[in-house]
Amino acid sequence: MSEVLELTKELVKRESITPLDEGCQDLVATRLKKLGFAIKHLPFGEVSNLWATYGKGEKTLTLLGHTDVVPTGPIEKWTNDPFEPTERDGLLFGRGAADMKGSVAAFVVAAEEFCKKNPNPNGRLSIMLTSDEEGPAKDGVRKVIKYLTDLGEKIDWCLVGEPTAEKRLGDVIKIGRRGSINGEINIRGIQGHAAYPHNAENPIHTSSEALNEIVALQWPDESGQFPDSVLQVSNIKSGTGAHNVIPGELSLKLNVRYSPSISSQTVIEAVEGILQKHKLNFSAEWEDSGAPFLTTSTTLIDCAIESITNVTGVNEVEQSTAGGTSDGRFIAPTGSEVVEVGPLNASIHKIDEAVSIEELEMLTEIYGKVITKLLT
Ligand SMILES: [Zn+2]
Repeated sequence: MSEVLELTKELVKRESITPLDEGCQDLVATRLKKLGFAIKHLPFGEVSNLWATYGKGEKTLTLLGHTDVVPTGPIEKWTNDPFEPTERDGLLFGRGAADMKGSVAAFVVAAEEFCKKNPNPNGRLSIMLTSDEEGPAKDGVRKVIKYLTDLGEKIDWCLVGEPTAEKRLGDVIKIGRRGSINGEINIRGIQGHAAYPHNAENPIHTSSEALNEIVALQWPDESGQFPDSVLQVSNIKSGTGAHNVIPGELSLKLNVRYSPSISSQTVIEAVEGILQKHKLNFSAEWEDSGAPFLTTSTTLIDCAIESITNVTGVNEVEQSTAGGTSDGRFIAPTGSEVVEVGPLNASIHKIDEAVSIEELEMLTEIYGKVITKLLT
């Protein structure tokens, strides 16, 4: 009987679509409490969060994960019920099996094995879980880390269990992520009759040169670890639908995925600078959904790679910064090393999401080795 498989199934059965947790964290907390973990439930709004710590010592290793899952999509397209975990061909199918209830189960089983062998570790092991990773991520790790920082808590190493592998377990880990900023710009003109343009001001016409400059914006990456930062206009809207009406307003939405070579302020100043230069009457709203990070200290990276090679035999572990954002973005600014190691990401968010049962076992072993190396 595989312990990590059984626990993953128990978690997958709970229909915890963001921001719901549906008892996942209670299940984890009950098992950790038995080991002697101190348990703190930190709910914010509708979101459940868990902070569990074991042992004392100067350094803290945090295993970071989420218990929420994305919606299933059309349920009739699934081979089995997405919340009825099902084994087939060496895989476990179910929503969240790979992203990331399997990793959460692996955290727990690895912690159980570690604590039994090391009643007095040389440092502190903690597990942080949220039910708001897949959603707006406002009441999850963002709030938990603020709460902990206010208490004077500090994390030294943060191992995130997000699915990072591409073809086989251990081939890719993440050591950084890009930042993301959204902008919404409104450019005002004067609405009028197309036959009397001198009585109107067409924002499509007045903004066209500025838009040309805005879409050409890009910033080179200087770290050599990220792609260049490129601006993308994702929506543009103007006009009433009639041929003979000059619109009074033009609105556009844009997004930039950016490397640590620039900040969100760089983007804001560049875009607004162009709009001002062209003397446009505009308003702009910005939402920074997380700063970029890059882990440059090597303790956790080396430890993760060594453990991966040891367990899986993979010798060339790619250290990637690609993909979207993760909750690591909230931990990295506190000064913690952040590394993401998890199962294959090929099926995540899809119909028939699945995780390899054998790799789940190996993942548990990898986490166990990382914990042991850092805390003994
Ligand atoms: Zn995830």
